[in-house]
Amino acid sequence: MVEVLFLLLPLAFYSGWRAAAKHIRKQQQQQCELSDSFVKGVNYLLSEQPDKALEVFLNYPDIDEYTVETYQLLGNMFRSRGEVDRALRVHQNLIARSNLNPAQKEKAMFSLGEDFLSAGMMDRAEGVFQELMDNISKSHQVSKASVCWFLRSIFEQTQEWRKAIEASNCIIDSEKKTPKRLTDEKTPKVDNQALIAHYYCELADEALHQGNIHEVEQLMNNARKAHKQSPRLMTLQGDVAFHQQMYKLALKHYLAAIKTDSRLLSMLFEKLETAASKTNSTQNLQKELIKLYKKQRNKSFFEAMLELARKHTNVIHDPDIKKELDQLIESELSSKKLNIESIYKATEYIKLNEASQGEALAAKRGLLLTSQALQNYLQGLPAFSCEHCGYQLHNYLWRCPACQQWDTIKHS
Ligand SMILES: [Zn+2]
Repeated sequence: MVEVLFLLLPLAFYSGWRAAAKHIRKQQQQQCELSDSFVKGVNYLLSEQPDKALEVFLNYPDIDEYTVETYQLLGNMFRSRGEVDRALRVHQNLIARSNLNPAQKEKAMFSLGEDFLSAGMMDRAEGVFQELMDNISKSHQVSKASVCWFLRSIFEQTQEWRKAIEASNCIIDSEKKTPKRLTDEKTPKVDNQALIAHYYCELADEALHQGNIHEVEQLMNNARKAHKQSPRLMTLQGDVAFHQQMYKLALKHYLAAIKTDSRLLSMLFEKLETAASKTNSTQNLQKELIKLYKKQRNKSFFEAMLELARKHTNVIHDPDIKKELDQLIESELSSKKLNIESIYKATEYIKLNEASQGEALAAKRGLLLTSQALQNYLQGLPAFSCEHCGYQLHNYLWRCPACQQWDTIKHS
């Protein structure tokens, strides 16, 4: 009997080998079919048939680490093209797959949050990022700082300033504790402390509108702790003093704000003017503006002092200030390259100021200075530009040196 069994061994071996070979062939055939369908999906994408491609990918049964990456890229590509619906479908399909490992799931959740944010669905985006935040793992690719960064972006849009402050503190803490991760590339570096000061100022603005001065003071203290040199805070301090009719103090804060950031001058000019009028210190304000212009040579100060002089000719009568202003305007018009707005304001001032010396003289002097200022302005201004790419040049050329197009150079 044992001998018979022994004789049957080769047969068993042969049939076992046949069965195994059949199984491998079947597996190979299935893999072949799968990769064929994957290639088909890619081809649909390349031939700009995104819906057909989506159908292939969303019904693709098997998913491994390479296909997961492709799905991520595919979803992100749809989002960057503004096709948020398709991006959402891809990332939702990916998250629903049972065979994703935790790292892949985290990354897919992050992308889904970005999709919702792009679609303007703030509640859904907040829900996804919050869930991610609660379950984030230290060992994976998504960083806590980047999740907080996106949450802050949501809270900024929904104007939930206290939550935005919390998210900013989370970013600051996480950046100290954890090394950089892949998702940090998506979050540009900003001055978090300056932003926190902005959020406190937003809250303080709201409290000021409600007349709750005590709360305003507390919020401003918090803003100061976050960013001591915040021009926004200086402006707000000025506004609070202005609101309480403490115009001298308001003037002090507004001046500190424009010294720190001259761009605020256009926003604060009227308040400066009013606070100065209320405290009979328009001449002092003019002195400050002249001083600041001489120091910083910034057109905002130049235009502001011209505006103030023009509007308050009867108040600014100190001969020293008038003389200094006249000399400054004359030297700037004749020797500096000013912009058209500054030239216009300067000539308006001359016209008004010298009217007392006789119209003809004022007009002639103003005309000469304007002519000189315009000449300065035109000097060095490119006479030609390319209508194809906008490149500017001084002399005519047959062919644009930037975009290499022929006959595209025209008069500026
Ligand atoms: Zn060109």
